[in-house]
Amino acid sequence: MTFYEKCLGGYVPQDITLPVIYDGKPVGLLLDGGHGLRDFTSGKCAPDGSLYEGEWNREMVARLLPDCRAIGFDARCLVPEDEDTHISTRAARANKIMADEPDKAWFYLSVHINAAPKESCDKNGWCKKASGVCAYAPKNGTYKLGSALDDSRSMAKTFVDLGRGGFDLAGNRSLPKVGYWEANYTVIYKTKMPAILTESLFMTNPDEVEFLLSEKGKETISSWHIAALCKYFGVPYAHVIG
Ligand SMILES: [Zn+2]
Repeated sequence: MTFYEKCLGGYVPQDITLPVIYDGKPVGLLLDGGHGLRDFTSGKCAPDGSLYEGEWNREMVARLLPDCRAIGFDARCLVPEDEDTHISTRAARANKIMADEPDKAWFYLSVHINAAPKESCDKNGWCKKASGVCAYAPKNGTYKLGSALDDSRSMAKTFVDLGRGGFDLAGNRSLPKVGYWEANYTVIYKTKMPAILTESLFMTNPDEVEFLLSEKGKETISSWHIAALCKYFGVPYAHVIG
């Protein structure tokens, strides 16, 4: 059993009775927990080793999956294995699903935690100055054109607006003029469907690490993702929590 499957606690995906529709098609949602477990991606962790990003990302995907399916998304875990599946493999895997199942409107959501650059951190690796959430859309590129690019941008903006607004997770990040962050990260750039990457706070900030490891923190971050998805696709959020 993989770490991701353990996090799911035996949950078996249920049939989707009332699918969320986008552009006349049921929405398929590919959830990508960034990186691998500590044995595969040891550098991606809090300075005190209390939080490993790949493990936290997988746990978050495991939390999001049942809620997404309950809402009516055909949500899939793109990276169920423990290893740090290469980012190009992740993108290729997503593009194959899209090609194999063209009857669905596919979207890609990559879940991560941020880290301050080394030079901003103290001798122990901590940096209290960098805090808050963000969401990235791809820049213009060969793979990401037209509506897939536009949809990525508006989805990223929805996540940023809600994260900074209703969920009060802005931290001290200054918002780019366009209202979201842009970067050609492989998984959001080389996937052909609309794709965004979220950074749920900073694993170099001790206060945010404590929050991310708490039940309240995990619940807040998963609620932020679910609420943003509901808002973007016009689904009542109360449906999930009610
Ligand atoms: Zn990451």
